[in-house]
Amino acid sequence: MTHPMPIHIAAPSARRSRQARVVWGSRVVTVGGNAPVRVQSMTNTDTVDVIGTAIQVKELALAGSEMVRITVNTPEAAEAVPHIRDQLDKMGIDVPLIGDFHYNGHRLLTDHPACAEALSKYRINPGNVGKGDKRDTQFGQMIDAAMRWDKPVRIGVNWGSLDQELLAELMDQNSLRPDPYEGRQVMYEALIQSAIGSAQRAEAMGMDGAQIALSCKVSGVQDLVSVYRELARRCDYPLHLGLTEAGMATKGTVASATALSILLQEGIGDTIRVSLTPQPGESRTQEVVIASEILQSLGLRLFVPSVTACPGCGRTTSTTFQEMAKQIDDFLRAQMPVWRARYPGVEGMKVAVMGCIVNGPGESKHADIGISLPGTGESPAAPVFIDGEKRLTLRGEGIAQEFQRIVEDYIENRFGSAKA
Ligand code: SF4
Repeated sequence: MTHPMPIHIAAPSARRSRQARVVWGSRVVTVGGNAPVRVQSMTNTDTVDVIGTAIQVKELALAGSEMVRITVNTPEAAEAVPHIRDQLDKMGIDVPLIGDFHYNGHRLLTDHPACAEALSKYRINPGNVGKGDKRDTQFGQMIDAAMRWDKPVRIGVNWGSLDQELLAELMDQNSLRPDPYEGRQVMYEALIQSAIGSAQRAEAMGMDGAQIALSCKVSGVQDLVSVYRELARRCDYPLHLGLTEAGMATKGTVASATALSILLQEGIGDTIRVSLTPQPGESRTQEVVIASEILQSLGLRLFVPSVTACPGCGRTTSTTFQEMAKQIDDFLRAQMPVWRARYPGVEGMKVAVMGCIVNGPGESKHADIGISLPGTGESPAAPVFIDGEKRLTLRGEGIAQEFQRIVEDYIENRFGSAKA
């Protein structure tokens, strides 16, 4: 049989946006252009609570968030911002802070210069900057502040707070068409015009276009894909992606991953946030974990060693291998804040924890280090594969601990500074 043509290797398309810089101190986070797609997150603490907010920002940053957004909604919150920044600097956390403004951002940024200076970026929602004549004036005041303090902005449109005057105007125009578009299409148009029109107004005021990022968030997967495809076609500003109000747990995770993956695969999106509603007691960092996993699954970034584990089946009647896969995964994630600096490259490592002989040895050989646990009826032995070769066999009660030690040794030998 002759070989057919080589099969195309799927990969995300290249992006074509301008490149912006978000800076705090010596920390520079490039956004857009050929920079990596960045992970963002947002706190849910009361910003007035300086210590509580600083602690949550730290947790988000250590989980891998490269920028963290905080609500700045009152004069008290604006007063707290420089103190939060101080606390973070004292803790050695140089993650840039983004201020999220609605309704009164023009006043807060003007009346609280220390807040304007301590933030690294301002999020402006053009649907919430004021109505009628005040809209352009108040938007202009925020852009003035951004230029005065040399800060980039994200013009973040959201369909929950879309500029109603613009939407009404477009609806009126549409109703006069001989063949009117669907209401949803008019809404898409309003989202996009609000974002790009605001960016153009900012540039007309003298703002550098490379300091402007855009977002148009909606809560439906197909709506998000439709809007961002068109937004990316019409402009080259860096785009922030996120499914707004994605929801809780499985639904929020799946919907966000689905929407963002379609767009990222097409080269659309320069920063992402997963807007997950935390379950009671769940850490806020879960949204960072999911955002990172989306990028890592698509092959766009590497954040943490990946653990390949089979789903288990009738050949694994005990929970040993599930517990072990979780234990190794938790262990690797917990070490990453330290390992990132100590073991450069460790985030690309692949570990396999498999349930039986059927796919265990094969999958373990594909990983850097893997273990194939004994399935039901197999002799109680777990072969360990390192760099594709079987190196030893573990037996007895302490397999999990022994395997973890072998993984640690492997990392030290391969990624430790002595071997670099
Ligand atoms: S590797 Fe074994 S235990 Fe795991 S799913 Fe496949 S057959 Fe089942």
